[in-house]
Amino acid sequence: TEDAFKQIAHLDDKVQAFLTVTEDEALTRAEKLDNEPMENRGTLFGLPIGIKDNIITKGTVTTCASKMLENFVPVYDATVMEKINQAGMISVGKLNMDEFAMGSTTERSAFKVTRNPWNLDCVPGGSSGGSAAAVAAGEVLFSLGTDTGGSVRQPAAFCGIVGMKPTYGRISRNGLVAFASSLDQIGPLTRTVEDNALLLSAIAGLDHRDSSSSSKEVPDFRAGLTGDIKGLRIAVPKEYMGEGVAEDVKASVRQALDVLESMGATWEEVSLPHARYASPTYYAIATAEASSNLARFDGIRYGYRPDDAKNLEEIYLRSRAEGFGTEVKKRILYGTYALSDGHHDELYVKAQKVRTLIAQDFANLYENYDIVVGPTSATTAYEIGGIVRDQLTLYTNDILTVSVNLAGLPAISVPCGFSDGLPIGLQMIGKHFDEATLYRVAHAFE
Ligand code: GLN
Repeated sequence: TEDAFKQIAHLDDKVQAFLTVTEDEALTRAEKLDNEPMENRGTLFGLPIGIKDNIITKGTVTTCASKMLENFVPVYDATVMEKINQAGMISVGKLNMDEFAMGSTTERSAFKVTRNPWNLDCVPGGSSGGSAAAVAAGEVLFSLGTDTGGSVRQPAAFCGIVGMKPTYGRISRNGLVAFASSLDQIGPLTRTVEDNALLLSAIAGLDHRDSSSSSKEVPDFRAGLTGDIKGLRIAVPKEYMGEGVAEDVKASVRQALDVLESMGATWEEVSLPHARYASPTYYAIATAEASSNLARFDGIRYGYRPDDAKNLEEIYLRSRAEGFGTEVKKRILYGTYALSDGHHDELYVKAQKVRTLIAQDFANLYENYDIVVGPTSATTAYEIGGIVRDQLTLYTNDILTVSVNLAGLPAISVPCGFSDGLPIGLQMIGKHFDEATLYRVAHAFE
């Protein structure tokens, strides 16, 4: 834990991954844990971890990188925090992100821009950019992020680390500040597949405080890392290797497929016919759910409130006008429109139907294949300030990741190469609740 703070002191003024560092609390806890008898020390005992700032932490400010929650101190812990505490881990602080997890670069934080440790002029990806950068910079070996449409996998790819978006329902969302409830999942970011597997086993499982959490048994994911992938059947959708994906990214993915083949797997090109609709479908559903979830930030119950507002209506209006950033407001507007009388059927209801078709595309593939493989992102990390104004490109770049959330599937990103000194990520998508196969393949590959 002391080393984590040394590394944070050494690097974080450059990388800017942390919003809050809880050094005193962490060192006190570490000292207390030192007195635990050996038999109480599990596999993650004493290991420092960083937490994305949309996961609530009792007594520690939880901002969602928004002015709205700048001074919000939760009175209870998210279920994942209880679990990492039970595992003997030590939280060292809260990590930067795009405001309310809406973005792909971590440039949308109300407080600071996190930088990619491989090249400080580039973004770390997003929205869990702080979580990925902190691990890549060696400030911590473990962090938690959240993935609504790619926000664990894409920053993991940009920062050259391992990021897992588990099956919807695998990890309790109790205490995660909701962006889009039917898509959100918490996920672990780590240097190695083995660390990732250990952390997921520790934080997954049924929780009665989240009605969407699953009662499926949680395997010991590390025990399944056998190195054996003989007979594995891989599907490679042509839609994931087509136009818009950079040549060096495609070349790295093809090389990765050669490696997997040399270990006894087979692969074939397939089609996901509805993949082209994934981004618009995602943005209709995600913004609709966000507009509803973010209605709770009204200046009364939580967060920012102007002190000179004259009446209730002015409190509502000004709290939201002054507390939310531009991207968040834009999404609340889109979502409200998608749900409004007269547009609801053509946008929200239609998106739900396409969502079913997208899920069906994957289900069809899994009749003949074990996993789906492609790039995590169409390019390597963007330059800071370069793409942030081109919102449409950012929205379309989500096509490689958002289908997974729409279908509720698990997916992992593992490093598979470099281009111009920036990491490239390989994405593997599995069957529902089959994270074990993803870990086994990713471990054999890494
Ligand atoms: N980039 C996507 C978005 O902006 C994904 C965000 C996420 O997964 N939280 O919505």
